[in-house]
Amino acid sequence: MNALLSVSDKTGIVEFAQALHALGIKLLSTGGTAKLLADKGLPVTEVAEVTQFPEMLDGRVKTLHPKVHGGLLARRELPEHMAALKEHGIDTIDLLVVNLYPFEATVAKAGCTLADAIENIDIGGPAMVRSAAKNWKDVGVITSADQYDAVLAELKAGGTLSDKLRFALSVAAFNRIAQYDGAISDYLSSVTFEAEKLSETYVPTRTQFPGQSNGIFTKVQDLRYGENSHQQAALYRDLHPAPGSLVTGVQLQGKELSYNNIADADAAWECVKSFEAAACVIVKHANPCGVAVGLDALSAYSKAFQTDPTSAFGGIIAFNRVVDGAAAAQVSKQFVEVLMAPDFTAEALEIFKGKANVRLLQIALPAHGGKTDWERGRNAMDAKRIGSGLLLQTADNHELALTDLKVVTTKQPSLEEMQDLLFAWKVAKYVKSNAIVFCKGGMTMGVGAGQMSRLDSARIASIKAQHAGLTLQGTAVASDAFFPFRDGLDVVVDAGATCVIQPGGSMRDQEVIDAANERGVAMVFSGVRHFRH
Ligand code: 5GP
Repeated sequence: MNALLSVSDKTGIVEFAQALHALGIKLLSTGGTAKLLADKGLPVTEVAEVTQFPEMLDGRVKTLHPKVHGGLLARRELPEHMAALKEHGIDTIDLLVVNLYPFEATVAKAGCTLADAIENIDIGGPAMVRSAAKNWKDVGVITSADQYDAVLAELKAGGTLSDKLRFALSVAAFNRIAQYDGAISDYLSSVTFEAEKLSETYVPTRTQFPGQSNGIFTKVQDLRYGENSHQQAALYRDLHPAPGSLVTGVQLQGKELSYNNIADADAAWECVKSFEAAACVIVKHANPCGVAVGLDALSAYSKAFQTDPTSAFGGIIAFNRVVDGAAAAQVSKQFVEVLMAPDFTAEALEIFKGKANVRLLQIALPAHGGKTDWERGRNAMDAKRIGSGLLLQTADNHELALTDLKVVTTKQPSLEEMQDLLFAWKVAKYVKSNAIVFCKGGMTMGVGAGQMSRLDSARIASIKAQHAGLTLQGTAVASDAFFPFRDGLDVVVDAGATCVIQPGGSMRDQEVIDAANERGVAMVFSGVRHFRH
């Protein structure tokens, strides 16, 4: 049996080659890999010796040769293939071990030159991987160091690889090539071509939105079904998920997550992690139906639950603090589908053990101080599928600075009111438009979501507060977009609000400001809209 080893990432290759050698497998290799193996005392034949052709053009041409590709592609069961190999003095290659030039890592580095990116496009490696993967019936192809163990285990047990493993390796190999080519295509199509600046040291300007992309997602699992039982579904995650994003979480207990569970869990998690104080978010059908901050997980939860106990039934609950026994005991009194937190105490886990259906997800929080969106666990881009198309936009990662706020009324909000306004504004960003959110004392008091009219969202929010037995007297209100007329403002003030935050920017801003002054409430413009459709 012959193995060809040609790897850029040399992690574990020496041990793997030693094991192959111990099994009597002949080792062929390219320059750098061959040198490393030879230095470790392994008998290794350089590919250049086999092809009788030197590696050339700075390594651009190493293995692109019939003696290599013939040995990989020949179908062993066809006598004419084997005769052709014999005629041309070609040996079969039965095991290929390749990992590619580090293109992705190279272009991820700040200041990467176009020349460096191009030089890191592997040519011969993918060509060999494709040959071997196409001929999976006869050739095993390894494209990642984490496959070494499984291959060795079979070779040690029976001297050959099973059809099942070779096929699985072939699938993984084509996946890897698709990712790799996707990354190259993404990178190149993000480059703004500036002919006049081209040089060896040229660092290209890149656009926000790359073109074709095949390599950005990896499959996590098939789901039982989609939004409805007649729909099929699967979960994918980014190849390099942001720290603190939902997909980095670990499920500690409970049934398998459903499509709707995951969608709602994401909404809750994204909202809760935007708070620095201890917070709890309860979500139903992708909208928060209770959000609160408190001294600890228990107090945040108790407040969040009060907003809308009816809707909270069967809710998806997220915490940005460790869930301890006290919080767990309180939460387990209600029917909960999914519970997320950065951690759970042993006591909390013990309590949930008795509630086997509750899905517990442990997700590390991203760093609040992180500089980039990625470090802060946020998507750089949002995507929405439309008929035969895709809408892409940069994510709504706007953060309000106090200096952006403009008080437009004679009445100034008190310090306490200002805190509630900012809290309400934060929540409104996670509520589907049109969003009207009443808050007081660091908790939501009424949430109006997803209505086609802002007036209806305002009315619904106050009806819900009534049903929950809450009074909206003295509340702060956030509206995700401007009030086009004074009527919306009148509805929230009639309900009891004493201060309002909204983007401003309507043609009739003055009419709305006059109304606020007339009604004696404070109004603040944020200058930014948070539509969420
Ligand atoms: P080594 O360090 O052994 O000299 O090079 C290993 C790397 O070369 C691997 O990443 C492999 O994919 C790549 N490689 C193998 N053959 C060729 C070739 O013909 N052309 C290019 N550009 N890369 C190759």
